[in-house]
Order: sequence, then structure tokens, then C-alpha cells
Amino acid sequence: MSDMRIRSVLIVGGGTAGWMTAAALSQVLQNDYCAIRVVESEEIGSVGVGEATIPMISVFNRLLGLDENDFVRQTQGTFKLGIQFVDWAALGRTYLHPFGPFGTDIKGVSFHAWWLKLRSLGEPADLDDYSLPAVAARNGRFMRPVQAGNTPLATLSYAFHFDAALYARYLRNYAEKRGVVRTEGKVVDVQLDGESGFIKSVQLASGERIEADLFIDCSGFRGLLIEQALKSGYENWTHWLPCDRAVAVPSENVGEPVPYTRSTARSAGWQWRIPLQHRTGNGYVYSSNHLSDDEAAQTVLANLDGRPLAEPRVLKFVTGRRKRFWINNCLAIGLAAGFMEPLESTSIHLIQSGIARLLSLFPDRHFEPADIEEYNRACTFEWERIRDFLILHYHATTRDDSPFWNECRTMSIPESLQQRMELFRSRGRIFRQDTELFTETSWFAVFVGQGVVPRGYDPVCDALSAEESRRRVLQVRSVIANCAGAMPRHMDFIRQHCAAALRSGN
Ligand code: FAD
Repeated sequence: MSDMRIRSVLIVGGGTAGWMTAAALSQVLQNDYCAIRVVESEEIGSVGVGEATIPMISVFNRLLGLDENDFVRQTQGTFKLGIQFVDWAALGRTYLHPFGPFGTDIKGVSFHAWWLKLRSLGEPADLDDYSLPAVAARNGRFMRPVQAGNTPLATLSYAFHFDAALYARYLRNYAEKRGVVRTEGKVVDVQLDGESGFIKSVQLASGERIEADLFIDCSGFRGLLIEQALKSGYENWTHWLPCDRAVAVPSENVGEPVPYTRSTARSAGWQWRIPLQHRTGNGYVYSSNHLSDDEAAQTVLANLDGRPLAEPRVLKFVTGRRKRFWINNCLAIGLAAGFMEPLESTSIHLIQSGIARLLSLFPDRHFEPADIEEYNRACTFEWERIRDFLILHYHATTRDDSPFWNECRTMSIPESLQQRMELFRSRGRIFRQDTELFTETSWFAVFVGQGVVPRGYDPVCDALSAEESRRRVLQVRSVIANCAGAMPRHMDFIRQHCAAALRSGN
């Protein structure tokens, strides 16, 4: 049998997606398996605002074999224990979506069920008090998990905030050391094989033509290969997630960076705050049907902790996904594959899972249709479940103070989400579906945080008396408070392990 292995991979685009893909392929395939090349255009530039992650990124870091302290240091990174949502359910109401579980199962029944029982008994209970990451985040504390007996300190899970430009540079160094070749240049044309529809080559403005066996489109929103050349088609989700713009502006730090992302709901969307060691990232994600760019910029500038460090930059997007993520010998990763707003910091994760899925279905030059179909099926499933989770934040609100929130609250939602909400409203039950990203904990945090109240609690919880249920649940709260109190301050942890070198202007 002739060797049908992929001999060359061309990655078009060198933003976060391009360099994450290049780094992972160079690590797994090594350069003697196939040649890996990245084409990027400094003139076009990259989006560069993706700076908050979720805990799955540690899987990616392990795949690359990164030294985590070095990675945090080089990217001016901080640690992240969850996302704080301010004014989402109602003005004045705040909750945290933590990374890691609430309490522990009692008699084999999830802690969520016991907490709901206690609440129905009238116990004033702030759900955040039952999550170590939530309490630690609130108190500005951080440490990595430790095996400290059967305590929540062993289950701590965390992610990172980092400077997107430094992250791309860091991964570029990593990939280039492993043989990836970078070409500065602008792709101006794509040559297709007339019969098969496969991509044969791309042409640069310099006149150079680059051929490859496998093309990976990391060209950002424009989808240079997957859309412009291969006409994948786009499924538009703006009717469910109506924000279509963001205005981003970095600011000076005021005080020590906190170990969580903050998302504050505003009249026509929401504002993010991402604390880094050397600055804070901010932006307002909004619906252009409800707010002008100028109003959005003024709002974000009026709500910064510190002085702005640059002019506000407007980014436009259309929420949705490519109908096909992989066509023939080309697949799209990153913004070229589609976009969902950064409300739950899922885009970098979707890059990572796209890469992982590509590696598990890595083709040879036969490009088996069944493999491609499975890739597209699995991506579609993952994207749609995340989409539902995001919609929940907008839809399950009592806010009625602006046309934007009135529309979100009253819109029709996907049936898949409708079913989930009905199940939760019944007895507070949640089941993670198949390989979906968000766990029962995440859904529970947002259901409760957004004020969705079940009609009753799980009847199995009546296996324990009200008094015994209360005792067991409250015990969890006190263990968590003790553990959080024993954790170092977030910034002390960074100073000790991974502080970035001071730069002028810091
Ligand atoms: P880009 O950054 O756009 O890179 C595209 C690359 O393609 C560039 O190198 C460009 O030069 C190159 N290119 C394009 N056309 C050509 C051409 N003709 N020839 C050669 N090269 C070309 N994600 C998160 O996970 N967390 C967040 O907190 C988060 N926040 C976000 C906030 C906003 C407002 C937005 C819009 C996105 C956010 N994201 C976030 C998403 C995240 O920024 C992206 O997933 C990530 O940056 C990947 O982008 P990319 O590499 O696909 O595209």
C-alpha cells in the first residue's frame, strides 16, 4: 500500500487559533511526519481580545508540556476561578459561576438537590457559599489543588486570564522551535481542483503559491478558505444571541488583580473585565439594534476601574457557526469556524476542542467522508449545547428596564433549551448531555443565579429529616469557609510562583 500520509499542512492565519493549532500539531506530529507552515499577515492583524479561558485549557497545556508558571509569567497571566455575573438576573443581583463542584453528594444524591431542599425549607442560603472557588474568588484567594484529605482543596479547578498578543507570541516561539515555518504574507487567491473541489494551493500577494495536502483555515471571521473558497454556508444565531458588536479598551490596574472574570449586564448587552498582571481588559458586548457604537464606547469608558490605555476599538461579529466545519481537505478552527460571544469564555476552548477532534480523526490523503462527517457532527453538537447555555443567561432574567432585556426575556428559545428549563423548573434536575462542555454544576449555577426556581425539590431528599439535611448541608459551608481562609492571596501566589518581569510603564 502506498504511503498516503499527509505530507504538508498549511495553516492560514496566525492569531490565537493559528498558533494554538501549529503548536499542537508540531508537538504531536513532529516535523518528520509532515511539514507544517503558517501564513499570516501583519497588515491584517488579529482580533487579539480573547483573554479569558476555562479549566479545560490545562489539558491543552499538558499536551504541549508547558511549564505552567512560565506560561503565566510570559503572558502576564492571572488565575481564574470562575465568572462573576452582576445585574444579570435583576439589577443589584450578583452571583458567581465557579469552576468546580458545589459541595459533595449526600447519600448518592447530588448536593444541588439537598441545597434546593434547604432553600425550600426557608434556609437563607447563598449558593456561592457552598463552592470553594466561589468563596475563594470573592475573597481574592488562590492556590492550586492539594491532596489535603477529603477536603474541597483537592477538587479546586482553575483557568487563566492572559494577554492575547503575548499568548500568540509564546505559542509561536513554541511552534517555531519544533520546526513550524512561518511566512509573512497575504493570501489573495485560493486554487481549487475543478473536479474534486479540494484546495490545491493558496496564492500570496508576493506571487508565491503554497501547496499542501491539508489546509486549516484560521483566518478569522472572514473564513478565507472555508467560506470564501468552499462556500460552507453560515447558520446565523442572532435571533437568540442578539449582540453583534463589542467595543474593547484596556485600562490600568487599580488594586490587585482578582481571580475571576467579571461580566456586568448593561442596558443593551454586558461589559467584561479581565484582570491581568500588567493591565485590565475591558469591553462592552452589545446589540447594534439597541445601542450605537459611540454610546457603547462611552459606557465602557465610564465604567473602567482605572485609566484607559488605548482608544476604544469596535469589533463586529455575527453569532453562529459554519454549516460545515470541515470540507474536503480543509477545516476551519477559531473564528473562521464561527463565533459565540465571550460570555462564558468558550472560544479558545472551541479552538482547543477543534484541534483535539482533528487529532483524533486525523486524515490521510484519502480524506474519508465518514471521518469528516463525524467531525462535523461532533462540532455541531458541542456548539449547539454551548449556544443554549449562553441563551439561558439572557432569557432567564427578570430585567425589564430596557427594550433589549424585554426582547431577551420574551424571545422564543431553542427546543433543546426549553426542555432543559422545564425539567429544572419541575424538581431542579439537570443531566449533562453526552459530551457537552458544561457540567451539571455550571447549569445549576446559572439556573439558580438567574433566578429560575423549581416548583419542588427531589423527593429522594426526604430520605433524611429536615434537621439532618440542614446539618449536613451547613457543614459543607463551614468546611468551605475554613478552606478558603487557609488559601493564600491570589497576588501573593503569583508573586511567589509566576510574577511577570516588571516592564516600564507597569
Ligand atoms: P484572528 O485573531 O482574527 O486571526 C486571524 C489571522 O488570520 C490573523 O493572523 C490574520 O492576519 C490572518 N489572516 C486573515 N486573512 C488573511 C489573509 N488574507 N492572508 C494571510 N493571513 C490572513 N475567546 C475566549 O476564549 N475568551 C475570551 O475572553 C474572548 N473574548 C473575546 C472578545 C471579543 C470581543 C471577541 C470578538 C472575541 C473574543 N474571544 C474570546 C474569541 C477569541 O478572541 C478568538 O477565538 C481567538 O482570538 C481566535 O481568533 P482567530 O485566531 O480565529 O482569528
